[in-house]
Amino acid sequence: MSIQADIIEQIEKFKTIIIHRHEDPDPDAFGSQAGLAEVIRNCFPDKNVYQVGENNASLEWITTEDKIDDKVYDGALVIVIDTANTPRIDDQRYKKGAFLIKIDHHPNDDAYGDLTWVKTDASSSSELIIDLVNNSNGKLVLNKKAAEALYAGIIGDTGRFMFNNTSAHTLRVTAQLFEFGIDAAWMNRKLDEITPGIAKLSAYVWDNMTITEHHAAYIVLKHDLIKNYKLGAAGTAPIVSVLGKIDTVKCWTLFVQEEDGTYRLNIRSKGPIINGLAKEYGGGGHPLASGAKMDTLTDEQLKEYVAKLDKIAATYTGEDND
Ligand code: AMP
Repeated sequence: MSIQADIIEQIEKFKTIIIHRHEDPDPDAFGSQAGLAEVIRNCFPDKNVYQVGENNASLEWITTEDKIDDKVYDGALVIVIDTANTPRIDDQRYKKGAFLIKIDHHPNDDAYGDLTWVKTDASSSSELIIDLVNNSNGKLVLNKKAAEALYAGIIGDTGRFMFNNTSAHTLRVTAQLFEFGIDAAWMNRKLDEITPGIAKLSAYVWDNMTITEHHAAYIVLKHDLIKNYKLGAAGTAPIVSVLGKIDTVKCWTLFVQEEDGTYRLNIRSKGPIINGLAKEYGGGGHPLASGAKMDTLTDEQLKEYVAKLDKIAATYTGEDND
């Protein structure tokens, strides 16, 4: 039996299904989570299906989460989606269920779960949910609500079909979503819109960034500065792509200081492979889009990191690949 058939067998078997995703959720985390939840609710109205984790005000147009008691986990199936490693699972109660399934498209460095389905060439976890539906022999069926969530996930992770993770298959399954009359233009606009605070912070980033000799770029955004723009660390997500808009920049990093003083690193690239660097700093992710955390960021630590990023840019011989 295929892994997808195994997953569907487990979905059929359990009365209660709880779906988790990663912390700091992005549109694909929310979209794949809500898309799967909606598909199961659509086809198995007698099951109790919950999606858990923190809400994010700016992404509530995709979905909002359920609040559940610990006892709901007794005898439940837990599905964790779009989350490479267990520390990043939003809501660590994921361990309390009776059976655990991992569905993901990130490199499978931490193959947790009783069943693990990881496909790294999928554009997004949302794409995987459509594959699961298409391979379910009609046991799972999409509806408009699921299609909307999954579309949000796909355009989130592909940068509205701009990144090289967009395949012919991505476009084919996306076409399926259009059959449900989703308002794709509205969702594209929602993802592209920025607040005045983000606009001003973007201007700050362009004004104050550093571009190294070999075309790696970086900027450090301290918590106090972010607060001046009336944003929290989580609100800076739309800034991540800003440095990459510069034609000469090959790879870049945003150091974003959290309220507790630690740093979140958003690491991106147009071609040079940067997930090895992310791993070196205890993080991970995709070859061209990764993240990591640092407890402190001294001048020395910054210098050392930037030298490594610059070396990655310097040794890259391929074409830009974004
Ligand atoms: P971000 O920069 O937070 O948008 O994350 C980009 C990619 O890197 C996503 O695919 C994340 O799953 C992954 N990622 C981000 N932070 C971490 C981390 N601390 N550990 C492992 N993977 C991460």
